[in-house]
Amino acid sequence: MTDSSSLPASARAVVVGAGIVGNSLAYHLARLGWRDLVLIDKGPLPNPGGSTGHASNFIFPVDHSKEMTQLTADSVRQYKEWGVFTESGGIEVARTEERMQELQRRMSSAKAWGIEGCEIITPARVKELVPYIEESVIVGGFYTQGVGIVDSLRFGTIAREKAQELGALQVFANTEVLGIDVAGGRVTGIRTTKGDVATDTIVVCCGVWAPKVARMAGASIPLTPAVHQMIDVGPVPHFKDTKGVIEFPIVRDMDTNMYERQDGSGLEVGSYAHRAILHDPEDIPSNEEAALSPTELPFTQEDFEKQMEDALELIPEVLNDESVGIKYAINGLLSLTPDGLPLLGETPEVKGLWSAAAVWVKEGPGVGKAMAEWMTHGESEIDLQSSDVARFYECQKSRANIRARAAEGFNKTYGIVHPTEQWESNRGVRLSPYYEREKALGAVFYEAAAWERPHWYASNEKLLEEFGDRINRREAEWESRWWSPIINAEHLAMRERAAMFDLTAFCIFDVIGPGALECVQTVSMRQMDVGHGKVVYTPVLSPSGTFKSDLTVMRLSDEHFRVVTGGAHGMADLKWYADHAPEGTTVIDLTSGWTTLGLWGPRSRDILASLTREDVSHAGFPFGTCRTIELDSLSVLASRISYVGELGWELYVPMEQGAKLWDMVWEAGQPHGIAPAGIGVYGTTGRLEKCYRAFGFELDADFTVVEAGMTPPKVKGADFIGKEAHLKHRDSDPVAILCTLTVDDHTSKSGQKRYMLGREPILARDGSRLVDSHGRGSYVTSAGAGPSIGKHILMAYLPPENASVGEELLVEYLGEQYPVTVQTNDATGVFDPENTRVRA
Ligand SMILES: Cc1cc2nc3c(=O)[nH]c(=O)nc-3n(C[C@H](O)[C@H](O)[C@H](O)COP(=O)(O)OP(=O)(O)OC[C@H]3O[C@@H](n4cnc5c(N)ncnc54)[C@H](O)[C@@H]3O)c2cc1C
Repeated sequence: MTDSSSLPASARAVVVGAGIVGNSLAYHLARLGWRDLVLIDKGPLPNPGGSTGHASNFIFPVDHSKEMTQLTADSVRQYKEWGVFTESGGIEVARTEERMQELQRRMSSAKAWGIEGCEIITPARVKELVPYIEESVIVGGFYTQGVGIVDSLRFGTIAREKAQELGALQVFANTEVLGIDVAGGRVTGIRTTKGDVATDTIVVCCGVWAPKVARMAGASIPLTPAVHQMIDVGPVPHFKDTKGVIEFPIVRDMDTNMYERQDGSGLEVGSYAHRAILHDPEDIPSNEEAALSPTELPFTQEDFEKQMEDALELIPEVLNDESVGIKYAINGLLSLTPDGLPLLGETPEVKGLWSAAAVWVKEGPGVGKAMAEWMTHGESEIDLQSSDVARFYECQKSRANIRARAAEGFNKTYGIVHPTEQWESNRGVRLSPYYEREKALGAVFYEAAAWERPHWYASNEKLLEEFGDRINRREAEWESRWWSPIINAEHLAMRERAAMFDLTAFCIFDVIGPGALECVQTVSMRQMDVGHGKVVYTPVLSPSGTFKSDLTVMRLSDEHFRVVTGGAHGMADLKWYADHAPEGTTVIDLTSGWTTLGLWGPRSRDILASLTREDVSHAGFPFGTCRTIELDSLSVLASRISYVGELGWELYVPMEQGAKLWDMVWEAGQPHGIAPAGIGVYGTTGRLEKCYRAFGFELDADFTVVEAGMTPPKVKGADFIGKEAHLKHRDSDPVAILCTLTVDDHTSKSGQKRYMLGREPILARDGSRLVDSHGRGSYVTSAGAGPSIGKHILMAYLPPENASVGEELLVEYLGEQYPVTVQTNDATGVFDPENTRVRA
């Protein structure tokens, strides 16, 4: 099928970029019924010169992220369907014991996400599978049968042809986008070297150029082009009888950040070990200027020398052979983002401008399908919440932040990355008004949405002695990393007396105007037409009745609602509300304007009462209400809710008054034994003892409100997104049930006690996977200590037949299985099940 000759005057949507992503997306839009589609690329077809054209094209299906694993699995399915996938098997080899533990962790992820054909193998077995490897330098490997390579260019061609056959797509190669027209915050058209097209939908599938194209519309796609070096050597005598393109498993030499993969008679050797070499999209040469292709920059030999030595150690038979020469060597360009995840969805700056960037070949078709669904139905089958391009705050989109994080993340491509691992670069960007006080108290800061947030306080070490045996210590280094027993001591201090929490990282926004009620009613599942001063915790549903978010809304007046949500996902929530705000109603971000101090524990009322003349008794200030009260000289919006299961309040003041608020609460709290407490208590121990669900952990687009055990007694009359689906879910039995389990015995085979961190598979007592009738395997959604109950707590969705209190199961952690028991199969807390403390 040939290219179309001249651009149409208008199009239903324009997809820019004919790499793996743009081609896949154009096809899936066509499949879902979109017509008058235009696909544009500045380069020639089928290889326009983007990253897809020089990818090594291999796919390892196992990832610790559920979202990435699902996208990859769906991509593999599509590649197979169109006959462009060759299975080769793949081995991630370990040179260290630490890596072997990591490979066990990968084994757990494989089980959690249902990837079959994985096993831990010995060096001898690696040698059997890859005879040209030097097995003495490795201690073992993680074999995945389903690893393979794809023909991503061929896939793209088929995708375009199929969309054209449907009569849905016109394709324009050698056509460069020069500008994007925007009016009233919406896309209106696109300007190219071959003419202009009027359209209200543009998808930027431009890989490393995506930031440049987004800037044409005044939007941001925060990624940086970065070099990944790859050489191709050959002909390799060992491969002389090879018929196809690959016969031996691909090897990932994880500890040296490298891979070696057969390519016909050659061997490709790639590296993520060199220094981070970052570029700006504007500096990438044009197709005409580039010696090879624009994304194949001249090879910088000096960056590969150490890597070559490492590769020589593992593959001496091939690389030491003087007859084997370097056929091809490039500084290939790919996209890196500030948090290592893709950038998908409509940009928050410009309506109708969508991003599908920072996507690998291994996820391309899956992303194409999911994005097309999102653009068509407002949601996708695979939850894309971690990849939402709307997730960033302005400061996170700065060039300096993107480059700092990309540089730090690059060498971790094959790294052993701890689940709670912290970034080192570009810290100290957002400081709460309590920051200096916290630093003086020895706060250990974790980053949340660029805020520095105390996770625990060294000054609370003294509490360890006070609580003695009730504080659990961790023996293994892995679980002790990014953790302290002080968290548990702070927890007990809160449960016995009171604790104060820095919650400045909350994302806060107001919905104001004549359509404010309509907006919050439409987006929120719970009844929002409540009295002034009511605080409502509510799920936010997708059209199919799964979780898009969960948050609290305060009604401050008739036409004024204040939404408080988690920092990490706050910007995406804000966009969702703003998208549904009727004309004349505004959504205003107050995150940097207001700070929140949490005060909880049985003594919190005494503390608050000592600062105010207001009635803060249970009758005078009931649970689930908020109002402005005077605390000494400050006017404070106090909200009586709790995420830790205690009596207490969230106290909100304008940012500049935060330090004063902290000092007042701190001083008033001293006679009551108040402790500063970190997010270790707020987000994990306090929450888990109460079985409170968290977005991104228990709550995501894979599960319904009913399955999460959060079915409200009745459904409000007003319409809301997801209502129809929710009504259906209420009428049928849940396919999985969210349960809380505790670990019965932590003793590993070595005698050391081990503590799960989350995302591990839950198994039947015979070791078999638990899978519900929708094919979802059971895994630990959250894990953490429950210091008041003296047990390690896990949450997991279980098939109904396993979701009975007392059911005995197993959790697999780092290659060993530990007995666990179901404690609750609904939202009842394992601590204070009657909720007497919250309602004291
Ligand atoms: C050496 C190397 C090896 C790799 N190996 C693998 C691998 O084994 N497995 C894997 O999963 N991933 C691999 N990758 C990553 C992978 O190549 C990329 O992530 C992927 O190809 C990106 O696809 P894309 O469609 O987003 O971008 P691209 O393929 O870069 O496509 C973007 C397109 O946008 C077009 N464009 C840009 N600006 C404009 C404009 N203004 N007007 C019109 N058109 C425009 C470009 O011409 C280009 O064709 C590798 C990367 C490198 C560098």
